[in-house]
Amino acid sequence: MNLKPFHKQVARSVLEYLFARQGEWTGLWDLYFAGKKDKVYDVAEAMPLHWSRRRRLALMRVIVRNGLSGGCDCGCRGDFEITDKGLIYINKPRTKEYTGY
Ligand SMILES: [Zn+2]
Repeated sequence: MNLKPFHKQVARSVLEYLFARQGEWTGLWDLYFAGKKDKVYDVAEAMPLHWSRRRRLALMRVIVRNGLSGGCDCGCRGDFEITDKGLIYINKPRTKEYTGY
């Protein structure tokens, strides 16, 4: 991935986050469901707290463009899911089938 070292490190932490939540819905949902729904895992939790939503989405676009995660990176829903390529990148095994949504 063509990223600065720190951003690469954050991307890795996002992939680790997705790895730990295979089969779960993850996203950038906070603004949509804040306080309304049951907890939905949010990849933003793997990024620096002070990062803006725009910056978080920009990183997810790089990750998705590089084929390391599936999902929607436009900000409408998220649904990020680690791909086989993403698992290879962090040298971790698949524990749940890729849903490909
Ligand atoms: Zn979208």
